[in-house]
Formats: sequence, structure tokens, C-alpha cells
Amino acid sequence: MGGTVFTVLVDNTGRPGLMEAWGWSVLVEHERGWRVLFDSDSRVEVLEYNSRSLGASLEGLAAFVVSHEHWDHTGGAPLVARRNPGLPTIVPPGRHDWARGLGLELKVNTGGLDLAGLGAPGALVGAPLEAGGWGLWEEALGVETGEGLVVLVGCSHPGVDRLVEKVLEGAGSDRALLVFGGFHGPSRETLDRLAGLAEYIGPAHCSGWRAVEYVASKYPGRLVRVRTGTRIIVSGGGLRVEY
Ligand SMILES: [Zn+2]
Ligand SMILES: [Zn+2]
Repeated sequence: MGGTVFTVLVDNTGRPGLMEAWGWSVLVEHERGWRVLFDSDSRVEVLEYNSRSLGASLEGLAAFVVSHEHWDHTGGAPLVARRNPGLPTIVPPGRHDWARGLGLELKVNTGGLDLAGLGAPGALVGAPLEAGGWGLWEEALGVETGEGLVVLVGCSHPGVDRLVEKVLEGAGSDRALLVFGGFHGPSRETLDRLAGLAEYIGPAHCSGWRAVEYVASKYPGRLVRVRTGTRIIVSGGGLRVEY
């Protein structure tokens, strides 16, 4: 298998043969050999069933990146911890109650983190942002591929465009190849700003159908449709999506 593969283990809606749950989890398998999990859905059973069905092993991870501490992104953490005892886990500032007693090795990201030191060269987490002053912090993951930077977001409570900007800053880049994940019912203005920051746009999870339709109509050819089981493969041939 050439290239870097992003497997959507859980999105809110799936395809026959996979379980559905309100949640979000993506496995990154990089062409340089490392694997990182981004978010862990809402339920252990769903994450376990879907990863097995998709042939996506949750063992041997270099790191676990948690966008923010809402239940629909941290619910599967006990499974991740069982399969990877002592796993380095990158989290934004917060209470981290969900991680208590799991044996994960939390690393609190305050100003952006390069994951090369954890054995995942080409992975970086942008500086975290707080959403609207309610003490909820969120971070996004950037993955360098041969074709450009791919940015994964969780729920984008502080704004998807702002989270992408932080990853671009960390990567020293001014444009991403792709951004996908939950955009949290973004405004058209936000999506227009996003279109200036990334070539391909994949609204998933909490983005809402309006975001999907807007991108489809205003930026034809640049929408990536995402659901549970979607595989996004970035290789020398560009970006390929399998459903
Ligand atoms: Zn959330
Ligand atoms: Zn969410």
C-alpha cells in the first residue's frame, strides 16, 4: 500500500456493515511507517467493531491525539489505552477527567507540538485555541504527505479556519492540501476563509449538511465526502477517496 492512508473509523453516519454513533475517530497510517489515532469516538464497542471490520489495527500506535475533551471524541479512550499501555497522548489544556486511571501518558499541548520525537515524523499538533472563553480548548493535527499538508479537526469549537491557521503556522506552510473533520455548523464566511487555506475540504461529524452543500456548490471539485469507513489515500498520484 503506497502513500498515507486516513481511515475514518467512526463518523456520525456509516455504511452497511459498520456501526454508527455520534462521534469521530480517524486512524492515520503514514507512508513513513508510523500510525497515529486522532480522537476515539463516543463508545468503546463502536470503535472496536469498526476498526476490526475495516482491518485497521489500533495496536502499535506512536501517539494518540485528542482534539478536545468532549465525550464523542474521548469515549473510546479505554480501548486505545488497553491496546497501547502508556501511549503518549497529546491533549489540549483542560480537566482530562476522561483519561483518569487509563494509564495513558498525557502530554499537554500549550504552544504546538512536533510529534517527530514520538516516532511520528511529519505529524504536528497546532497550538491549542480556546472556544469563546468557556475553558474548552481544542487542537488540530497536521500530517505532512508528499502531496501537501493534511489537517484533521475534531469539532472545531474555536472555528475550523482558526484551527487550520495554527497548524499551518506550526508547519511553516501557507496552504493545506486537505482539511477534514467536524466543522461545527460553520458560517459561509468561515467556509470561504477555509477555501483560502486548503485545496480540498471534507466536512464531517458536526459540520451539518448545509456546509456540505455549500462547499459542493461554491467549490465544485474540491469537496471530499466523508462518512464512517471512508479511506482517504494521499500518494504520488494525488488524493484518492474510497467509500
Ligand atoms: Zn465538541
Ligand atoms: Zn464532536
